[in-house]
Amino acid sequence: MNRIVASILTLQQHLNLLANSPVIYRPTFCPHCSFGKLWCHGCYERKADRLAPASKSLNPIPIPRFICFGCRRTCSRLPECIAPRRWYDWAFQQVVLLLLLSGCSLCQCSRQCGLDRRTIRRWWTWLNERGQAFEWMLRSRFPELGRSVNFEAFWQNCLQTMPLSQVMAILDREGLRVP
Ligand SMILES: [Zn+2]
Repeated sequence: MNRIVASILTLQQHLNLLANSPVIYRPTFCPHCSFGKLWCHGCYERKADRLAPASKSLNPIPIPRFICFGCRRTCSRLPECIAPRRWYDWAFQQVVLLLLLSGCSLCQCSRQCGLDRRTIRRWWTWLNERGQAFEWMLRSRFPELGRSVNFEAFWQNCLQTMPLSQVMAILDREGLRVP
């Protein structure tokens, strides 16, 4: 989908880049019609800073939007540190998924992370359902991951090699839909 701009790992880095080099966010082609001319089209806001206390919060975080010169539809680009369509960032999702991969139950994981069990189940279902397509792409890009014997081993191995945010940025760039 090419929604994620790789290597922007913190919200502060995102704010600095957006202020000083916004051009790096501009997609090279439209995700709807593949036309190669897009214009900046303002920003929408996300409350992506989930950790800082209110007094130090960076919220709201602007997300740059673009409009296609060809089809007039809009698209947006997210820094790697913000997950599309999810309230929590990739780093937190990674902690939860690694617990599940190591054999923790939904209940144990919920207690340990202070997160609703339904949210955890949703993330786990997502990885199980999409995992095969993700794995196929990742194994073709990183042959060393091919040695993993099963689903759990593959993802543990993968997340030791690179963070979940980077995995998702790679899959997004390859045209797969991450959440
Ligand atoms: Zn277009």
